[in-house]
Amino acid sequence: MSSKYAGYMGKVMMVDLSTEAISEYPWSDEQRELYLGGKIMAARILCDHLTGKETAFSEENWVVISTGPLTGTGAPSSARFNISALSPQTGILASSNCGGSFGFHLKKAGYDALILKGKCQGRKWLEINEDQFIFHDCNDLWGTRVSQCQEMLTQLVGKKKFGKLCIGPAGENLVKYAAVISDERAAGRTGMGAVLGWKGLKAITVTGNKTVPIYDKEKTSAWCKKWFAYLQKHPLTGNQLPKVGTAGLVSSMQMRGLLSTKNYSAGQYEHFEDVSGERLAEEFNITNKGCLTCPIRCARTVKVHGKTVKGPELETLGLLGGNICNNDLQKILDWNEQLDDLGMDTISTANTIAWAMEANEKGLWDNGLHFGQLDELSDVFEDIAHRRGIGNELAEGSKRLSQKYGGKEFAMHSKGLELAAYEPRRAVGQGLGYAVSNRGGCHLNGGYLVILEGLGLNVDAQTPKAKADFTMLFQDLMETISASGQCLFTSYAFFPAFLLTKPNGIITQTVNMAAPHVGGAVRLINKCPRVAALHLPVFHHTKMIKLATGMYMDFGKYIQIGERGYTMERYINCKFGISSANDKLPKRLTDVPQDPNEPKTKIPLETMKKTYYAARGWDKNGIPTEATLRRLKIK
Ligand code: SF4
Repeated sequence: MSSKYAGYMGKVMMVDLSTEAISEYPWSDEQRELYLGGKIMAARILCDHLTGKETAFSEENWVVISTGPLTGTGAPSSARFNISALSPQTGILASSNCGGSFGFHLKKAGYDALILKGKCQGRKWLEINEDQFIFHDCNDLWGTRVSQCQEMLTQLVGKKKFGKLCIGPAGENLVKYAAVISDERAAGRTGMGAVLGWKGLKAITVTGNKTVPIYDKEKTSAWCKKWFAYLQKHPLTGNQLPKVGTAGLVSSMQMRGLLSTKNYSAGQYEHFEDVSGERLAEEFNITNKGCLTCPIRCARTVKVHGKTVKGPELETLGLLGGNICNNDLQKILDWNEQLDDLGMDTISTANTIAWAMEANEKGLWDNGLHFGQLDELSDVFEDIAHRRGIGNELAEGSKRLSQKYGGKEFAMHSKGLELAAYEPRRAVGQGLGYAVSNRGGCHLNGGYLVILEGLGLNVDAQTPKAKADFTMLFQDLMETISASGQCLFTSYAFFPAFLLTKPNGIITQTVNMAAPHVGGAVRLINKCPRVAALHLPVFHHTKMIKLATGMYMDFGKYIQIGERGYTMERYINCKFGISSANDKLPKRLTDVPQDPNEPKTKIPLETMKKTYYAARGWDKNGIPTEATLRRLKIK
C-alpha cells in the first residue's frame, strides 16, 4: 500500500515463519498520520491482534520490526529501528530499540516494517533481498556466538554492506533477557532475543537498492545541516556524549547519590573513580563511534585483549561496577564484550547477579555468589547463556528468582524488567517513571526525569510536585522521537545550552525553582496540544518530519502522537491484567530512606501515581478511560 507521504517506503510485510508465506499487511496514510512509525506503529498492529490470552513463547506472539519515516532520510541519528512483541520477562508488551544499520537497509529493500508470525519449521535464518524472501536452514549458524554468526552471515550474503540482526546462545536457550544484536548495537532490553530463539529464527539479513523518498530535498538537507550544527555545539550532544559517552554520567551520578551501589542499597560507590567514564576515556578509549547519520557519536571503542570492541555504556559500568562491588574496569570491558557476544542484556544480567549475591548474603539461596568476589563471574555468564547449573536459574531473572527464594523487597525490577543504574531515591520523578513505564523498569520509557533532577538541571529531586506532569510530557516526547526513527539522545538538546553551562546563572536557578510549580502549565500542554501548535527553536524534530515527509506537524501534534502511543501500549497491557497494582517498585525504594537521617530520600510513589493517572486520563486503577481512548482515536 503506497503512501502519499515521503519518508515511507509504503510497505509492511507479514512473514509467516510457519509456512514461509509472505504477504503485504495493510497500512494506510491515515494510520501513518496517527501512529507515525516505529514503536507506535508496532503498538497499533499488536493492539489489533492481541487479546490478552497470548504468551511470549507462542506462535500468536507476533514480532513487529519497524522503522520510522526519518530512517534513511539523513536526519540526525535516524538509523534506529524497533522490535516489539510480548516479553518473556514481563509477559506484557515490549519494545526494544536498536541502532546499527538494519533499519536503514530494511528501507533500502523497500519496507517500513516486518511482522513475524508463527514459528519456523526447524531452525532458520531469513535472507531478504528486495522482493525475495529466502529461508535458509541454519544448522551451521545455530550455536554460534554473535560475532561468529555475523562473520558467517557476511560470507553467506557475499556483500560488504547489508543489514543484519541475530541472536546469540542466550536467545537460542531462551534466557528471559536475551538480546537481539545488529552490528555492534543491541536491542538489549525485554528479551526479544528469546522470542526469536523460541521461533527458531537465528538471524535476518536484508539488502536493497531503493531510495527513501524525501518530500523537499533541498530544505530537508538545509535543515539537517542546521540541526547537525546545533547538536554539535550543544554541551550534552556536542561535548559530553561524544567525549565520554553515557559513561561520563558515572561521576555525576556519584555526586548526586544516584549511582546504584551494592544492589541499590546505596547511591554512592567509594571506588567509583575506578569505573568512571573519565578513566575509561583516559586509559582505554581509542575513539568514539556512532550509528549511521549520527553527529553525536556516543559509542566508545576500546581494546580488549588486542581486539577493538564496543565499550561499555553507563548502565553496564554502574551495574557491573558498584552495584556488585567491583572496581576492576578491565573486567567490565571483558564482560561487556562477552555479554554482547552471548546476546544477553547487560542491565538485566547484572541486576540478577546483584540480587543473587544479596540473596546469598542473607541466607535465602546458597548459590556461591558474593559481592566483590568476581573471578568466576565470566563462567557464570556462560552458564546463564547455556542454561547450565545455577545459570539455568539465573536465566529466569530477578523477579522469578525472588518469587522462588524470597527477597522480593530487594529484587530491583518493575513488572519483571530490571531497573537501569539510576538509584531513584534521590530522583523521585525517575522513580515514578520506573514504576509506570509500559515496558517495566526502564529509565527511558519511564520519562528520564533524572535529567531534570540533577543530571542536567537541578530541580528539587525529592519533591513529588509536578513530577507526574513532566513525566507524561517527557514520555510522550520520547515516544514520538522513537516512532520517527530517531535516537532519544537527540532530545537532550531540548534544554538550551546556557541552562547546562551556567548552572548557577540566574535564569537556570529560576527555572530550577519554578519547575515544581508549573505542573498545571505542563498539564495544559499535555492535554491541549493545540496550545502548542508551533515549532520550538530548540526542538528541531517537528520541522524535520514536515520537510522530509510532507506530513503536517507541529509540537502539539507531535506530543499527542506520543500520548496516543503511550496510552495504546498501556491499553494493550491492561488486556494482560496490568493495573495500578503492577505499577510498583521494590520496598527498598519506597519504604526505606536512602539516608536514614533524611526521611524524604525514598519514593512517594502512591502520591505521584494518582496525579500521573489523572494527567493521563486513566482511572484510579491506572486503566485508560473510554473517553481517553476515544479522544486519542485508539478505539
Ligand atoms: S547518540 Fe549514540 S546511540 Fe544514539 S544514534 Fe548516535 S551513536 Fe547511536
